Amino acid sequence: MIGKNSADPELVGQFIRIGRVLFEGGLNNSHSGNMSMRVEDRLLITRRGSMLGALTASDLIDVNLEGDGCDEGLPSTEVNVHRSVYAGTGHLALVHAHPRAAIALSMNRDFIIPIDAEGRYYFHRIPVLAVGESIGSKEVEEKLPDLLKESPLVMVRGHGAFAGGATLEDGLKMIHSLEWSCEIFMKCLVLGMEEKDLRDGPGRGD
Ligand SMILES: [Zn+2]
Repeated sequence: MIGKNSADPELVGQFIRIGRVLFEGGLNNSHSGNMSMRVEDRLLITRRGSMLGALTASDLIDVNLEGDGCDEGLPSTEVNVHRSVYAGTGHLALVHAHPRAAIALSMNRDFIIPIDAEGRYYFHRIPVLAVGESIGSKEVEEKLPDLLKESPLVMVRGHGAFAGGATLEDGLKMIHSLEWSCEIFMKCLVLGMEEKDLRDGPGRGD
């Protein structure tokens, strides 16, 4: 991101484009989710309560990367989770969304393991982080970065997905693919297939 600053129209355009696809793809409801990019020693993050599907330049808040306890402009409630991820990983962008099928599957498992070809191409397994308070908590700040170093995509149980990468599009791609895989998996269960057979059937070796 050298040479970019947080007011760069190209960056603003990336937030608007990815936010719109997240919403139109059913990965966020009207006001859920947040996104950020690391811009040198600054953090550009969506505004608290903003509509990711209809972002404008005024919905992007420029804050310190380290955090000094006096953020101006009401950044996302999860701004400190984003800070901890940038401090603990090499990611340059972080996308958070509420994909419904993936959230449902996160309720009773420690990993989500795709069964479809695309999902298995992108992911071996997606870790599920279980915490007491899942929205913007110290516990998420402390535990999420290590998981995002092992896997660029992590589910927080009952809450949503966090995906880190070089760009916002990287995060969108992973979360969209995860949700696709989870929907396929759930459709297979609705059709009466057994979860064990879907995992362990012929040709399903890891
Ligand atoms: Zn959330």
